[in-house]
Amino acid sequence: MRIVLLGAPGSGKGTQATRLKTELGIAHISTGDLLRAAVKAGTPLGLRAKAVMDAGQLVSDEIVLAMLEERLEQPDTHAGFILDGYPRNLAQADALDRLLKRIGQPLDAVLKLNVPDADIIKRTEIRFKAEGRADDDPETVRRRLQVYAQQTAPVADYYSQRGLLTEVDGVGAIEEIFTRLMAALKSRSTAAV
Ligand code: AMP
Repeated sequence: MRIVLLGAPGSGKGTQATRLKTELGIAHISTGDLLRAAVKAGTPLGLRAKAVMDAGQLVSDEIVLAMLEERLEQPDTHAGFILDGYPRNLAQADALDRLLKRIGQPLDAVLKLNVPDADIIKRTEIRFKAEGRADDDPETVRRRLQVYAQQTAPVADYYSQRGLLTEVDGVGAIEEIFTRLMAALKSRSTAAV
């Protein structure tokens, strides 16, 4: 099963993707995690990406696509994958479409977690205190939400037009939201039969 998980920063994509990975036995690919690993390792790419990430802006499409292509070459993705944090704009959605066509692995579903901005701000404040991610400070979160509204929100329409999108209420207990996501996947696969 190949899934894209959409949602604003702090909407719970990472947490839910980890659960889905375990439940479905597929790879979890977070472009944010890949970028943070490159920053930590001090690679040339990581050094270029760091300032952009700290400012709450998007890293260049070319860099992220190259990282994703490399990740999709790893064998653990053959059973399927869940993409968390990609695509972030329409150009990335198109690039993903072309890449997955080329490797013969089209998407099965796109799930979008809906969480109001007020909850996002509360959640990221908690994460900022717990994990100290520079881009979780309240001012940067506001910028990330703007970037999301302007560049990432249209990606949902892109997938809706292709009949792939299911929206899921992302407010509630982690287990409850996970149950909703699994139900959404189940109803999609039943509808496809
Ligand atoms: P995330 O952990 O998904 O919230 O990503 C953290 C940061 O990494 C984002 O604010 C961006 O600066 C960068 N990033 C992650 N994924 C992408 C992507 N698909 N395109 C561009 N930048 C990205």
